[in-house]
Amino acid sequence: MSWDVTLRVPGVSWASESWNYTSNTSPMIYEAMRRAGIPLEHWPGSNAERWRMERFANGSKCGKRGPGQKTLDDLIWTPCTMTCCEPSWWQTLDGRPGPEGLKILVAVVEQWDADPDRFRAMNPRNGWGRFDTDEDDPGLRGVFTEMIAAATTEAALVWEASG
Ligand SMILES: [Zn+2]
Repeated sequence: MSWDVTLRVPGVSWASESWNYTSNTSPMIYEAMRRAGIPLEHWPGSNAERWRMERFANGSKCGKRGPGQKTLDDLIWTPCTMTCCEPSWWQTLDGRPGPEGLKILVAVVEQWDADPDRFRAMNPRNGWGRFDTDEDDPGLRGVFTEMIAAATTEAALVWEASG
């Protein structure tokens, strides 16, 4: 599993830049957003919001853990109520105007840089994905830094994201 983020000039498909990275490191993003007080919520009218409403309309099921269940216990699957699950971090980014998404990315990197060892300790045990850049892996922080650099512009850009 990985996520894809594109920074797009609306209506000009070639004038866009994209990034992707493994979802193995996404707990670092969620923890940073939690610390920064950034809610997981859709940008109104975004594709991600539309997909979620379609899932609800289609009776798609969400898996949850019951009280007292442990991480590896089987999930309990029930039709999505729209309030039973939060949007993902990339669903939160999807559809946001450039500066709105940029604020989130900057706040995440600020949290990482305030406590880097805590986030390094979240490096996936299976070795897929990492916090820091190394010679053949940009690392999650490196990818976020690239996205921030591309979004630091006066151009009217929009974020698109999928996972
Ligand atoms: Zn749900």
